[in-house]
This record gives sequence, structure tokens and C-alpha cells, in this order.
Amino acid sequence: LPGFSWRPQQQEMAEAVAEAMAGQERLVAEAGTGTGKTFAYLVPALLSGRKVIVSTGTRNLQDQLFQRDLPLLKEALASPVKVALLKGRANYLCLHRLEIALLDPRGHRREVARHLRQVQQWSHRTRTGDIVELAELPEETPVWPLVTSTSDNCLGSECPAYDRCHLVEARRRAQEAEIVVVNHHLLCADFSIRDEGFGELLPAADAYVIDEAHQLPEVASNFFGVSVGTRQFLELCRDTRAEYVKEAGDLPKLLEQVDHLEKAARDFRLAFGEDGQRGAWEEVAGDPDVGRGLEYLRRELETLHGMLDAVSGRGKGLDSCRDRALRLMALLERICDEEGGAEVRWFEVHTHSLRLTSTPLEVAGLFREQMACHPAAWIFTSATLAVGESFEHFQRQMGIEEARTERWDSPFDYRRQALWFVPRGLPRPSAPDYTERVMETVLPILEASRGRAFLLFTSHRALRAAARWLEGRTELPLLVQGSAPRAELVERFVEAGNAVLLGTSSFWEGVDVRGEALSLVVIDKLPFASPGD
Ligand code: SF4
Repeated sequence: LPGFSWRPQQQEMAEAVAEAMAGQERLVAEAGTGTGKTFAYLVPALLSGRKVIVSTGTRNLQDQLFQRDLPLLKEALASPVKVALLKGRANYLCLHRLEIALLDPRGHRREVARHLRQVQQWSHRTRTGDIVELAELPEETPVWPLVTSTSDNCLGSECPAYDRCHLVEARRRAQEAEIVVVNHHLLCADFSIRDEGFGELLPAADAYVIDEAHQLPEVASNFFGVSVGTRQFLELCRDTRAEYVKEAGDLPKLLEQVDHLEKAARDFRLAFGEDGQRGAWEEVAGDPDVGRGLEYLRRELETLHGMLDAVSGRGKGLDSCRDRALRLMALLERICDEEGGAEVRWFEVHTHSLRLTSTPLEVAGLFREQMACHPAAWIFTSATLAVGESFEHFQRQMGIEEARTERWDSPFDYRRQALWFVPRGLPRPSAPDYTERVMETVLPILEASRGRAFLLFTSHRALRAAARWLEGRTELPLLVQGSAPRAELVERFVEAGNAVLLGTSSFWEGVDVRGEALSLVVIDKLPFASPGD
């Protein structure tokens, strides 16, 4: 293997993983940065002859594992094992929705129409339909929600494009493979089998390897919670309009009702006032504006549902909109009306949207149940799982009280190889000039390190403010997230040799820049969840 150096920690971990796989045991393993934990579980997985599901924290890590690590090891081991990559449905081009979006290309803004044409051209070339392939489109383009599916709008086996569907194909490949690389979100989806329109998501496995396992409790509580946002209402309106053009042009009243619902959704958002707020549902439930807004929204939704119900059977797309309306009604009822005991209900206000969520307070029971009904080896690993020497906190959170636990320290000599700087005297992170003050502190350090720096932010707003501030104050090349696809930014960063890359969450983990090319990492504030959450 190019650049490989033997590390005792890595070998010990690989042996522990192999034993756990052979004995269908539970292993909780912390492996410090630089241990090489990915290879330490992939090698035993490839050699085990068993069906293994590997779950990573993010899609970027999934791609890295599937595109780079697995092919490298398969070649080195001359392994014939079949591997597959499976992501959530939002990552695959939906041919049915692409066709619908193309029906009315003039209904889109110019930039969206241009992106739509790019997607159309790519749709003839792609074999996997994985949207990461179309790297020239920015991650945030509004075209993706138009041409990917949700469990709400997917027509499943009723779909005219079912035989060519990329998602169906990806799931078929996963069923046939021996090693399947998924992410935590998908793993939870499989556990809850709440993804309608298809049967089970993942094949039954002999071993589950959960990498970045420290993220799983949070992903799981988000997943097992329920959430509804005004955006879903607006999407329902948009899709009903598109179906109206296709199948119900003789029902102008339907179109009027869609307008009413759209207005009600926007008004409900406005009833919450300024953006950026977040709080418990109980705090606002008694507010008369919110109460009226909710009632109005429900009334319009119910009316639309009634109208769609009256034309049942006229078209699959219309029927799917009817079912979505019904699900939205049920979600509103579940979040706004039911008393939450084991759940916390909360709202989040964004500039153009509002989200209501109900999150379970603990997920240990759910995991205990899953592990009991999937007898297999369960291996949880990460660079940060233990508190001091103890894994108790993580084990309790996940309901895995009985497990073998192991820890391997990082082989890096942090004392000699790293410098840690916490600036004093910065204002509170909520201060309006916070980002500016951070950047004033950072600029001389950037010059001293001759770029080669990642500046990581907890919000897009801070990222944009920092990029604006740096513009014209430094000669170093600036690479800003959103200005080009992620992979291209990283490539240009390595090539430049003195660049400064500004990014948010997707750059926090799973970015591999070796050696001195990356010498400085600045974090604008530590992303601790608010204690009020
Ligand atoms: S089956 Fe669902 S995801 Fe596949 S093309 Fe049809 S609507 Fe899209």
C-alpha cells in the first residue's frame, strides 16, 4: 500500500474487530486520530466472508470509503468480495420527477432552468444516478429537490419509470453485495422501515460496523423524531400544480385551493416573527397569531385534501399528492396536539420557512430492540467515544450495556507536533461584530502559516461574513464553499499550496489533505448544542 506504515494500534484493533465478527460479539472501540481505524475494520470485513454493513457519519465519508479505501484494499488483498454503496433517496436522480420538472421549463428561474438542462444531459450518461457525479452543480442549487424524490412523492412500484429507477437499482445492488457502505441516517431508516414505497432497505447482515459512532445517538434521535415544515406545504403546492397541468386542467378550483394553501403556509411562517428563533412549542402554542395561523393552515390543507380525494384514481401523481396532504395533516396533529412525555416538541424559524419537530428524549430502547432482532456482530468505533477511560455514557445512550470495550491512543505526538491557541478577549459569539473580531485575530496567523489553512464555521452567515472581510486584506488565494463543488475546492486547495479554504459542516470531517498542505485549522466557535435544546 502506498505510504503505509505499520502501527501496533491498528493491528490490535483489526484483530479485535475480526474476533468480534467471528463471535458475533459487540465491540465498542475508540481509536485515536491516526490509528488507521478505517483499514482496521475494512480488512477484517473483506477477509471475513460475511455480509457486512458499514455505516459512516456522512455521505462524504461514504464516498471516500467506497471510491478510495475499499478499491485500494481489495486490490492489495486480491479480494473478490462484492461491495456496494447505498445512500438515502435524496442522493439519486428521480427520472419521474425530472420528467415532470421538464414539462414546464419556463416555470423556472433562469439559473434553475440552466441547471435543469445540465441534469437532463447528465441523466443520459449516468449509470448510478448518484447526484455527487454532477460535481459542476453547486450543492445548494434549488434544482436538486426538483429532480430527486422523497418518500412522500415517490410513486414506488406504481411509477412509470420504476424499471429504470436509479434508487431501485442501487438497492438491488446493495442486496447482492457482501459489503454495503451506508450512512447512519439510512441505517436508522432501515431500522424504522418508514421509507414507504419499497420493502426493506438493507439486506440482513452478519456484522454491522458503525464508524463515527459518536454521531449515531444524535442522528437517531433526529430520525426517530417527526418533523414538519412549511417548505413541505409549499412543495405539495408546487407538485399539485404540476399534476394539475398534466391531469386536471379542467378543475380550475383545484388551482385556486393550491394558492390558498400556499398563502396559509406563508402566513403561518410569518406568525412566528423574526428568523433565527428556536424554542419549545409550548412557549408559542398559546400565542393567538400562531393559533390562528395553524387553524387557517389546517383548514386549507383539509380542503385541498378533500378536493384531491374527490378526483381519486384520475392519476397516480394526483393520488400521491392527496396522500401527502393526509400525512401532513397527521404530522401537524402529532406535533401540535399530542401531549409529549418522552419527547420534546420544538420550533425553528428560518428566513422563508418554519419547522416543527418532535424529538424522542432517548433512543437506547430503540437500539436495544434493533440489536436484539438483528443477531449479528455490532462494532461501534470512533476517535471520540470514551469520557476519560469510561465508555459508560455512550453505552447507556445506545443501550449497549454489555460489550467488549477497547481504547487505542493516537500515535501522534501532539505535544511536539501541534500548537493549540485559544484567543482571549473575544466578544460573546452572539455579538454582532464577533466574526469580524475572530478574523482580525486570525489574519496574522494565516500570514504566518502562509495559508495552508481551513477556516471552519458553524453557520453560512458567519462564513459569508468572514469571506467578505478577508477579501482585499490578504494576497492568499481564498476558496469559499459554495463557489465551486466541494471536491474541486479541496483539489484546488492542495494544488495552490498556500490557499485558505472557508467551509461549513461538510468540511469538518472526512476531508483528507495529507502532510503540510494543511497546517492550520481555525474553528469560529465550538458547535455545542444549545443547553435549551
Ligand atoms: S420509483 Fe420513485 S424514485 Fe424511482 S423514478 Fe419513480 S418516483 Fe422516482
